[in-house]
Amino acid sequence: MPLKSSIDRPDWDSPEACADFFSRIDPENYLAHAIREIESIVFEFHKSHSYSVHVYKTSDADIPDKIAFYERCCVIRVNPHDTKPEIFRLCLAHELGHLVYNIKSLQDPEVLKEPRDIPVGEEVYAWIFAYKLIKNKSDEYAELGIHKEFQWTDAKLKETILLLTDGNKEVNQGISKQFNKKL
Ligand SMILES: [Zn+2]
Repeated sequence: MPLKSSIDRPDWDSPEACADFFSRIDPENYLAHAIREIESIVFEFHKSHSYSVHVYKTSDADIPDKIAFYERCCVIRVNPHDTKPEIFRLCLAHELGHLVYNIKSLQDPEVLKEPRDIPVGEEVYAWIFAYKLIKNKSDEYAELGIHKEFQWTDAKLKETILLLTDGNKEVNQGISKQFNKKL
């Protein structure tokens, strides 16, 4: 697929616009097209490097979902709590939201630092991105009458995200409230 011109690029500060941009690619399971598209945009920003997104499911339930950034790739791990395919996709979309949030800063030592501090604003951005990406895909599937398992009602999608963000973990405090306020 040829790269689109820069005129088409979304406002990178808007998670909704970014999700619209990355979800308009062909319908596909597990967001593969969105991931390929993000990789090609990263390459545009950081011309000297090819860039790849690696996704894997951990076998240890105590390891939380996470994205780690490296110079030429990022690694996304998704916890086996999220074994239902539709939850897996939602959590994966959230981690991709972290990648898009940092899309212009992927060579920044602060972003490459491991572990790194994740600002609440980034967490909220990533959830709004996930919401919009999955919602767009869901609407598209409903229209095409395919992938019934990946179709959500708006209420169910929001409710699930609120449940996922409303854990006891200190890091999640306030995120669900902010997510709720922004949608
Ligand atoms: Zn996150």
